Amino acid sequence: MPGDRSRLRSPGGAPVASFTLHGIPVSRGIAIGRAHKLAPAALDVQHYLVAEELLEAEVRRLQEALAQVHRELQTLWNELPKDAPTELGAFIDVHALILSDPMISEEPLDIIRTRHYNAEWALLTQIDELSAQFDEIEDPYLRERKADIQQVAERVLKVLLGTAQTLPVSGDDDFQAQMIIVAHDISPADMLQFRDRSFIGFVTDVGGQNSHTAIVARSLDIPAAVGMAGASTLIEQDDWLIIDGDAGVVIANPSALVLEQYRERQAVAARARKKLGKLKKTPAITKDGTQITLLANIELPDDCAAAMEAGANGVGLFRSEFLFMGRDSRIPSEDEQFEQYKRAVQAMKGRPVTIRTLDIGADKPLDQSEQTALNPALGLRAIRYCLAEPQIFLTQLRAILRASAFGKVRILIPMLAHAFEIDQSLAMIEQAKAALRERGEKFDEDVDVGAMIEIPAAALALPMFVKRMDFLSIGTNDLIQYTLAIDRVDYEVAHLYNPLHPAVLQLISMTIAAGHKAGIDVAVCGEMAGDVKLTRLLLGMGLREFSMHPAQLLSVKQEILNSDLARIMPQTRKIMRSMEPDVIADAVEQLQLM
Ligand code: PEP
Ligand code: MG
Repeated sequence: MPGDRSRLRSPGGAPVASFTLHGIPVSRGIAIGRAHKLAPAALDVQHYLVAEELLEAEVRRLQEALAQVHRELQTLWNELPKDAPTELGAFIDVHALILSDPMISEEPLDIIRTRHYNAEWALLTQIDELSAQFDEIEDPYLRERKADIQQVAERVLKVLLGTAQTLPVSGDDDFQAQMIIVAHDISPADMLQFRDRSFIGFVTDVGGQNSHTAIVARSLDIPAAVGMAGASTLIEQDDWLIIDGDAGVVIANPSALVLEQYRERQAVAARARKKLGKLKKTPAITKDGTQITLLANIELPDDCAAAMEAGANGVGLFRSEFLFMGRDSRIPSEDEQFEQYKRAVQAMKGRPVTIRTLDIGADKPLDQSEQTALNPALGLRAIRYCLAEPQIFLTQLRAILRASAFGKVRILIPMLAHAFEIDQSLAMIEQAKAALRERGEKFDEDVDVGAMIEIPAAALALPMFVKRMDFLSIGTNDLIQYTLAIDRVDYEVAHLYNPLHPAVLQLISMTIAAGHKAGIDVAVCGEMAGDVKLTRLLLGMGLREFSMHPAQLLSVKQEILNSDLARIMPQTRKIMRSMEPDVIADAVEQLQLM
């Protein structure tokens, strides 16, 4: 047990004031645990809890890094040219003094011992606390010293990163199992590092319901709330928190009564989930006998296990860009990518795997520091990026094609709007095939190629797509963003993000109809597909393929099993004739009751 547990408030004991924050719900369920605050700087390093028996080794790792930086500063000092400006020597002296100060040389060691943080995390936690103190200093000269402290910390971090181990997992499962991450923001790349940890919830100050961070939280199937302005300042380290992921509410330091109510709700939800589990092998067929295909959205091949567990008919969206993120901007090689695609294909045991080509940019930058575009969502994103970087695109296409020798693979191209983009993409697929033929590599010559319909221009120019493509997949997250001109990541406009806006519904309906008329498959792979409140509406529009996070699949299946198309269709037609938001919202609610 970490040594500072005694100072923690007991749940329900609440010696500190309880308060409630409201934000945007992004992931269902209730989490009860303790706050682990991540400062922005801390997000750049790995953070994990160190097992009791490894604590002293971790302390030594930090001590050795501090000693090495001391030696480096000494060498710098010794090697100063004679004519070097005196400020340079003084500057090295200041850094050496900072390094020897107990605030840096001892406090982080205590943090490792008491909180079980790894060395990098412990150092940054201390630096963030010191920085906050410096911000309050009035004397501008002293306030400036904050930068020196950060530079010293960076030196130590560089040494530490050279000695970093692969993540050791804490043996203290109970402690780790209760962590709720509280941060100003978490990028999708940062989220990746939480995938294997047992964090039970996320709370962020910013973010929208369909930001990629929110999407990853949903795919991890843990409660999360974003757009919770002020959360990272108001919530303190180790505060007890309840996240009500359905309502987008966070209760800090709850009373015993509130805690009990939420524990009860947690138990009810767990029972409902268990019941849903029985539907795993039941085919998704409506009451009137229409067969529906339920596919999974995945970020990494490991997610296939959850997809299979939920009884998915295949993968409808493999967001391949997650293989490219969080790796110091080194692009994965063809072989590396091939191995990952092959893993997914094999894990799905003959079911189709739809691999979307690199959708980098906007809120999924390859490298956070390179984000310079004024309007990244409208910039060099997805297929635009790939066509501008043909070598990266061709490498990925060859890797995907090679994986098609191991099972059914479909290629999905994101963000298409122009005929020439479709033609160039198809030409590059042919080029990748030719290269593989020359090498004598096996692949599926008839691999299906589909287009994401996620830009209004695409939905309004469907003949251009159905003529050239084997299937369509509607990306409602971006389709809503671009139709309503609201940034899906920006919580200040999150209230305008409305899947039921008549313009959005018209575009979706037109796409489904055009695909079916042309005899090609149409799926929805945006978040609308996993929202049970919209299942009947989409069925009524004619949708027969839904792709969603594995965690949502059985609830959607249950809704399908209880749906009767004969009743749903007339009501849907009524909805599609209306341009009045209230009428639409009411009619969609009535659909649920039919
Ligand atoms: C979408 O835009 O709906 C989609 C599925 O793609 P992403 O969320 O990855 O942009
Ligand atoms: Mg998209």
